[in-house]
Amino acid sequence: MDACDSALDRSIGALLGLAVGDALGAPFEGRERDSYPRSTEYASGGVGSVSPGAWTDDTAMAICLAEALLTRGEIDERDLLERFLRWYRTGENSCTGQAVGISPTTRAVLETFERSSRVDAALEIGNAGNGCIMRLAPVAIFHRRSQAEARRSALRQARVTHAAAEALAAASTLAEVLVVGLRTGDPGAVLSASRADHRDKKRDQISSAPRAVDTLEAALWCVARASSFEDALIEAINLGGDTDTIGAVAGQVAGAIFGASAIPVRWLGSLHSCGRLEDLARRLHRHSIGAVTNL
Ligand code: MG
Ligand code: MG
Repeated sequence: MDACDSALDRSIGALLGLAVGDALGAPFEGRERDSYPRSTEYASGGVGSVSPGAWTDDTAMAICLAEALLTRGEIDERDLLERFLRWYRTGENSCTGQAVGISPTTRAVLETFERSSRVDAALEIGNAGNGCIMRLAPVAIFHRRSQAEARRSALRQARVTHAAAEALAAASTLAEVLVVGLRTGDPGAVLSASRADHRDKKRDQISSAPRAVDTLEAALWCVARASSFEDALIEAINLGGDTDTIGAVAGQVAGAIFGASAIPVRWLGSLHSCGRLEDLARRLHRHSIGAVTNL
C-alpha cells in the first residue's frame, strides 16, 4: 500500500471502526462489568434490541454529521440540528427506522430546538455526556490536514447537544488524537497526543460511565493495551456500562491507527450499511485532499 492508499485506509478505518465498535457493544449497553460472558462477536439484544451487526445512535449521528459536513463544507449548527431532529423523529440514517439509543438529554435538546428553533438549546442543559465524542470521526477525517480546524469543528458540533466544558474539552482532545492517528498511523504518537498515560491504570480504575471524559479515557486505555484493532475493540465492549459508545470511540481511534484493512473481515462482512459508511469516509477523505490543493 502506498502512502496515499494508507492514508485513505486509515480514514475509512476511523469511520468503519466507529460503527463496528457501536455494533459490537450495543447488545451489552448498560450491563454491569463482568456480568456477561466475554464477547468477541456481534450479537443481538441490548437497549434497542439490535440485530447482529446493527448499530445505534452513535453511528446514526456520525452519518448525520458526515452528511452535514459534505453538504455545507463546515459545521452549520442549524443544519446539523435539523439532521439530528429528522433522525430522532423519522429515523433518517438509522438501521431500523427508529432513533435507537437516543439519550434523554439529547432528546430534550432536540425537542427544545424543535419547539423554539434555538440552536443554543444545549447551553442550559450543560450535558457532559459522551454523545459529542461518539460521532466525531467524520470531523477528523474532513479536517485531517488542520488540527486547528478539526478542534474548532469538533467544538461546534459538540456544543449543539453537549455544552458542558468537560464534554467540549473531550471532543477537542479526541479530534486532536484522531487527526494524529489519521496522519501517522502511529499508536505512540496518538497516545502522546492524548496528554495522559493510560497504560499504567488498572482495569478497575477505568470508569465505563457515559460521561465524555470517562469514555474517552476508557477507549484510549483499551487502545493503549492493544496491539491490533481487534484486541482494542474486544477490550472495549467487555468493560460494561456504556459499551456501545466505549466501542465506538475505541473503534474510531484504533481504526485511525490501524486502518480499515486491519478490521476483521468477519466484522465488516455483516456490518449494517458497511458500503454506505465506506463511501462517506471516502468522500470526507477526498475533501481533505481538496482542502490542501486549494491552499
Ligand atoms: Mg448507542
Ligand atoms: Mg451508548
